[in-house]
Amino acid sequence: MKFTEFGFDDRLMEGIDASGYEDATPVQEQVIPLIMAGKDVIASAQTGTGKTAAFLLPLINKIITDPHEDHTNNALVIVPTRELAIQIAQHMEGLSYFTSVSSIAVFGGGDGNAFVQEKKALSHGADIVICTPGKMMAHIKMGYVKLAGLKYLVLDEADRMLDMGFYDDIMFIIANLPRKRQNLLFSATMPHKIREMARKILHDPTEVNISISKPPEKIIQQAFIVYDTQKIPLVKYLLRQKNFKSVLVFCSSKISVKQLTRDLKRAGLKADEIHSDLEQTKREEVLMYFKSGRLPILIATDILSRGIDIDSIDLVINYDVPHDGEDYVHRIGRTARAEADGTAYTLVSQKEQRKLAAIEKLLGHPVPKAEVPAEFGETPAYNPGSGSRQGDGKRNFKKPFRAQGRSGQQHSR
Ligand code: AMP
Repeated sequence: MKFTEFGFDDRLMEGIDASGYEDATPVQEQVIPLIMAGKDVIASAQTGTGKTAAFLLPLINKIITDPHEDHTNNALVIVPTRELAIQIAQHMEGLSYFTSVSSIAVFGGGDGNAFVQEKKALSHGADIVICTPGKMMAHIKMGYVKLAGLKYLVLDEADRMLDMGFYDDIMFIIANLPRKRQNLLFSATMPHKIREMARKILHDPTEVNISISKPPEKIIQQAFIVYDTQKIPLVKYLLRQKNFKSVLVFCSSKISVKQLTRDLKRAGLKADEIHSDLEQTKREEVLMYFKSGRLPILIATDILSRGIDIDSIDLVINYDVPHDGEDYVHRIGRTARAEADGTAYTLVSQKEQRKLAAIEKLLGHPVPKAEVPAEFGETPAYNPGSGSRQGDGKRNFKKPFRAQGRSGQQHSR
C-alpha cells in the first residue's frame, strides 16, 4: 500500500518522501487507518516492523488537520528507555519536518538546563511529548504540566515497561489525563498482564497482530557449546576470523560487559561498552561512534536488544544465552536488518544448555551447532536434558534500567 492512499496532509507527505518511505509496512497498513478513524488500538508489533511511524504519522496528521487547543500537550508517547525516546524524537523530527507540529523528549537524569527546557515546554504545551514514565510523573507532580486538552496516549513497548516495573508510574500519569482520549498500545508480546492493563486503559480497542517471534531466515545462526572459561578466548578468535565491520556483543550482566570489554581491549581489539552504569553523555557518545562505523565492536547489556535501530550490524554475538526466546529473537534481530545479511553466534556454557533448548523450542528448530576449533581443546557435549543444572536453579529477573541523562529536541510552531 502506498502512503498516498492514507489521505495524509501534503506537508506530512513531504516528510514521508524525505524519509525515503514509499510503501507502508504491514503494521502501518493495518494500524494507520484505525488511528485515523479514532479507534483505540492494541497492537503486537516488534521493533523493526515500522511501528513508530505507524503511530507518529496519523498523530501528526490529526494534529495538523483536527481542531485542537494550542496551549496544551496534545499527545503523550510513553516509552521504557531514554534511548527509545531519543530515537522516536528523531523519527518525529524527520517526519514532521515540513509541518508546524512540535515535540519534546522528556527523560530522566538530565542537568538543570534540560529540566528548565522540559518544564517550559510542558507548561506551555508541546504537540507530541515523548517521555519515560518516571520523569514524566515527576513533572506532573510539580503541577505545571498542561494535560487538560490531551487527546492521544501511546504506550510503546508496553511489555518492556511492565518488566521494568513502571506499572504504577504509568497508572499515575494516566490518572492525570482527560478520560476522553484515544489510546494506542504497542507491545512485542501480549502476556496476560498486558491484556489486563489494556483492559483498564483502552476503550473497546481493535487488536492488530503483527508479531514476528521468529528471526528473519537470512540470519545465519550458530551455537558454540563450550565451557565458561573458553568463552573469552573464543570471542577473540571469532572476531579475528573475518573482517566484521560492525559487531554487537550481548552479555546478560553489566559485570560480564565490563570484563569482556577489558579483555578485548587488552587484546588490541577496538571495542567499547554500553550499560546503565555509564553517564548519559558517555553512552550517547559510544552509541554514536558505533552507529557511524568508527567503533567496530560494541559490548552491551540487553538494553540495546530492542528498539535500537542500527542497520549495518553484520555480526551479533550472544556472549551469554539470552533469558528467553523473545530476547534471543530481539538480540539477533539487530543484524540482517533491511537488505543486509547477518550472522548470529551464541556461546553456550554447560549451565546454559537448558536455556538454549527452550529457545530452540520457541524457534521450532535447533540452532545449528558450530564446531569449536581444535586449538580450544575438549568441549562439552550438547545434552540439555541430562540434568546438568549447575547454577541454573535460580531464575534471572530483568533488572529495571535506570535512566541517567537526557538529550532531546523541541521545535516550536
Ligand atoms: P521501527 O519498527 O519503528 O523501529 O522502524 C524500523 C525502521 O524502519 C526505521 O529505520 C524506520 O525509519 C524504517 N521504516 C519505517 N517505516 C518504513 C517504511 N514504510 N518504508 C521504509 N522504511 C520504513
